[in-house]
Amino acid sequence: MSEKRDLRPETLAVHAGKRKDPSGGPLVDPIFETAPFSFADPAALARAAQRDPPDAFYTREGNPTVACVEKKLAALEGAEDAALFGSGMAAISTAFLAHLKAGDHIVATEDLYGGTPRLFRDVLEPIGVTATLVETSPRPALEQAIRKETRWLYVESPTNPLVKIVDLEFVANLARRRGLTAVIDGTFASPILQRPLAMGFDLVLHSATKYLNGHADVTAGFAAGSARMLEPIRERRVRTGAILDPLAAFLVNRGMKTLSLRVERQAQNALSLSETLLAHPAVERVHYPGLPSHAGHEAARRQMKAFGAMLAFDLKGGLESAQTFLSRLKLVSLATSLGSVETTADMPWLTSHRFVAPEKKRALGIQDGTIRLSVGAESIEDLREDIEGALSSDVKRKT
Ligand code: PLP
Repeated sequence: MSEKRDLRPETLAVHAGKRKDPSGGPLVDPIFETAPFSFADPAALARAAQRDPPDAFYTREGNPTVACVEKKLAALEGAEDAALFGSGMAAISTAFLAHLKAGDHIVATEDLYGGTPRLFRDVLEPIGVTATLVETSPRPALEQAIRKETRWLYVESPTNPLVKIVDLEFVANLARRRGLTAVIDGTFASPILQRPLAMGFDLVLHSATKYLNGHADVTAGFAAGSARMLEPIRERRVRTGAILDPLAAFLVNRGMKTLSLRVERQAQNALSLSETLLAHPAVERVHYPGLPSHAGHEAARRQMKAFGAMLAFDLKGGLESAQTFLSRLKLVSLATSLGSVETTADMPWLTSHRFVAPEKKRALGIQDGTIRLSVGAESIEDLREDIEGALSSDVKRKT
């Protein structure tokens, strides 16, 4: 996509990755819904078997619909290459497995999507790859945990579920100074709000199930970075068969065309709701990097185009109030995922962090009355009415 590099992200989201057909052809890239490809002669078959072209031999190894989406994501991230996977966890696990081997060590911030520490414990540790987790803050003490076997610094920003912010230039500079690889799960921001490779990161991972697809109808994941970082990841993806199928890739491509429209609108809605919640008597605390009181506000201002569409808040009445609030919502749905155009609410205490010990959850800042909101693209007035309506009954009950 070098010819598209000078275009702006909003344009790249629409146009990047399109297949060129000099004779015209469909405006929208078609779905190559096929497992194998066929060949005119043995020479063409032999070339394709050598991955020339890389995306038209057998779909587990590559597919033109998948390639379109990969080029679009690479252009948005400013990456040399990107690889598409069947889920965010497929992208994350394949990246670790492709680059790390027995004896290697990872230093990571401890606020991570729940599936990632479980990947460390259940998949990486048994093969001899260990991880040390340090407290999350804008400038976490990663350096103190580095050992001679350390290979990767791994962070999430903003984090799930309390939207904590890590200063990305700080982490990238540390990695460069210590000769390590800097890797980020950038799911909560998407490349419309944050471009970690430009800040010195080596690899960006995404659950495309969230903002990139944006419509809660596909699970998918991405890894994006230099050709050097991506080559082993692509190779490993062929071995494990973790590629996304062409029909789902088509949907991700379609969803990504409206990425900037959706995310910018959703972030505006989230900022507005964070202010409403902050002023509400039933709310103890609001976690949103757009609020000046948030510990990561300054770092978020520097490294994000807007503050994102995820927020969390703690209700004064704890678990009981949280359950009452959720059961009174009429428009907002209770759902565990995030990043779709629908606003959804979740209780991390009972869902994403259900396997974490209560005292550890509290240490991370997650209370039994914490609600996580994935703010959607609906009218802000309708959202405010729904949330204030569900909260006001709580205030009445408590007085
Ligand atoms: N990373 C983050 C930050 C997430 O929130 C999630 C899922 O919620 C994942 C990774 C895993 O993605 P997937 O469910 O697509 O495997």
